[in-house]
Amino acid sequence: MRQAELVVLKKNGQRTHVSFGQKRFGRDFIIIAGPCSVESEAQYLKIARKLKTAGVDGLRGGAFKPRTSPYEFQGLGIEGLKILAAAREETGLPVVTEILDTRDVESGCRYADMIQIGSRNMQNYALLKEVGKIRKPVLLKRGMQATLVEWLNSAEYILAGGNTQVVLCERGIRTFESATRFSLDLNIVPAVKELTHLPIIVDPSHGTGKSSLVKSMSLAGVAAGAHGLMIEVHPRPEKAFSDNEQQFPLDQFPPLVKKIRRLASLMDSFLADQTVSNRN
Ligand code: PEP
Ligand code: MN
Repeated sequence: MRQAELVVLKKNGQRTHVSFGQKRFGRDFIIIAGPCSVESEAQYLKIARKLKTAGVDGLRGGAFKPRTSPYEFQGLGIEGLKILAAAREETGLPVVTEILDTRDVESGCRYADMIQIGSRNMQNYALLKEVGKIRKPVLLKRGMQATLVEWLNSAEYILAGGNTQVVLCERGIRTFESATRFSLDLNIVPAVKELTHLPIIVDPSHGTGKSSLVKSMSLAGVAAGAHGLMIEVHPRPEKAFSDNEQQFPLDQFPPLVKKIRRLASLMDSFLADQTVSNRN
């Protein structure tokens, strides 16, 4: 197999920064939060306002949902994208959302600031090629069964298409452990940073599948050296249309943001010896 080239960290140590609103992945510690799915406009806007006050850097929310069963909530589709755009308009926060189908990439770009490629689509090469052509940042989640090399090759597809704005997201892998939904592989964070110049963030929500574990694993993700976190937050997790066991209660989220920020600011000095000159 021909080796990936474009994703590889070069000897000069230059790292890629990826713009997201006023912030940059790789330069600023980025906290993205929001419900698993966009459920309604009134509800999403209410959540978005609270998250803005809590001090997050960006919003998430699925409009197109990749559900295991075809009978489960599939998302609001384009309507959901419009709700995300309204939330961005009101809060000034950038939004990231998953696109499942090459035919929806254009709409995704019209309404969102960043396109998410989900775990189930990490090796959907048609979709990777399509987002390689756009000029919006892409959040590439790790396939739940993917090795580091496979993941980096998927990122290579996007870079090879001409889109250099890629952020990786560790979201847990399948192991023999059944007590948690997935096993959050935090080894991968420093391993990714050794091999590639692309930023990496951690998703402790899908990585654990349990809201009671999200706080610990958010902080562990920061300590592992992640460039940011993506956390599912819901005002009433038990009523959520999807992933209700893992969504973090909105009313408990502001103190967690504060703790994450405190730890992230300490990490700057702990990891300072690894800091190399960055390219923008
Ligand atoms: C999500 O972020 O809502 C999602 C479906 O994630 P993953 O692709 O990691 O399962
Ligand atoms: Mn989810």
